[in-house]
Amino acid sequence: MKKLALHWWILIAMVAGVGCGMLAANAGQSAFVLTWIRPVGTLFMNLLKMIAVPLVLFSLVAGVASLDDMRKMGRIGGKTIVLYIVTTSIAITIGLIVAAILKPGGDIGPELAESLRASFQQKTDATVSSAKGVSMLDQVVGIVPTNPFQALAQAQMLQVVFFALMLGIALTKLSQKRNTKPIVETFQLLSDAIIEMVMIIMWLAPIGVFALLATVIAELGEDPDKMKQLLGALLGYMLTVLLGLVIHGVVIYGLLLRFVAKVPIKKFLKAMVPAQLLAFSSSSSGATLPVTINCVEKGIGVDEEVSSFVLPLGATINMDGTGLYQGVAAVFIATVYGMDLTFAQQAEVVVTASLASIGTAAVPGVGTVMLTIVLGQIGVPLEGIGLILGVDRILDMCRTVINVSGDATVACCVARSEDLIHEGDRTVHDDVISD
Ligand code: ASP
Repeated sequence: MKKLALHWWILIAMVAGVGCGMLAANAGQSAFVLTWIRPVGTLFMNLLKMIAVPLVLFSLVAGVASLDDMRKMGRIGGKTIVLYIVTTSIAITIGLIVAAILKPGGDIGPELAESLRASFQQKTDATVSSAKGVSMLDQVVGIVPTNPFQALAQAQMLQVVFFALMLGIALTKLSQKRNTKPIVETFQLLSDAIIEMVMIIMWLAPIGVFALLATVIAELGEDPDKMKQLLGALLGYMLTVLLGLVIHGVVIYGLLLRFVAKVPIKKFLKAMVPAQLLAFSSSSSGATLPVTINCVEKGIGVDEEVSSFVLPLGATINMDGTGLYQGVAAVFIATVYGMDLTFAQQAEVVVTASLASIGTAAVPGVGTVMLTIVLGQIGVPLEGIGLILGVDRILDMCRTVINVSGDATVACCVARSEDLIHEGDRTVHDDVISD
């Protein structure tokens, strides 16, 4: 029989997962899915998370240390950071413009707003309290780990990135006096071994993705009437976020790929499908990172020298989708509270949401926690997030796809500018499953 590429299996599994979740919800059997199918999804996510922290450490140290000349390192690092900041600011601006045009929230009356807030009171309290005390300054100070091993153990990615970058730089400097080759090669080998683990784990992707989606849908559909009400009330808001994400993905990444990276869009999409499907199913760019690296290197042909540095950094600090969503959410919540954001406040949203998205951990739902910082900055009541929590998971899935695609686009641009992009040969989804 004809062999089917892995991404097709993942797609089929996604559809089957949605169907299974809907069936279970309609038959009042959500509990079955949550008890028996959810653990399978959790197992798959754990496998991906298991390799994410060591991968960031090994690949960043190897990536930085192999850029043996400090000038090259500065150049690649500079380009990467500038592109990340610029694309995130553009994303938030697009979010604000689309929100200004579509004005989501204008038709939500005080009664509906109150009932939305009331039904998510508990979740709102939990989110607001987990964000309590998180200030921008704390975020900056917190980047430096007092104990890197603790940072590794607790998967504090920003801190792990900081330590890995410093270790890489130190090894580069040391290489002028000592033979650092064996240790750099060891880090490189470990990073390659982890990528091999991705290949193995991806065989389970269809099963994992099926379970993840069945769980999400069963959870959402536990109270179908409430869900219908919620979707109706928040449709405008959701469409605004989705439209913003599509515009950013198509126009900004399209232009960057075409004119800066000079990578055919078709090739980019074909290579990135597994990572995008996984980002959608898992809502975690951190868990998707190993697959992103594989797709970008093997499918698009970006040299390891660039990808091993740009992608782990991007998964941690670059979140265009999250920033864009925070922009729209801020306008939406402000509108429901009857506040009109001034130009100065909107500019503040761009700056704070850019910084907040850097501090957002690459796991599900954290974008909403960081949204409280943006709301606090412009004086919008934090409890307002209760309005949007009900549909957050769906939007989280979509914004994570953009987060991951943004990292890959920047990797292509940086690689092209350094002439470090080759013809791709083999990618995760070319590994086929046949019967
Ligand atoms: N789930 C997003 C990510 O992992 C972060 C967020 O927006 O909550 O990229």
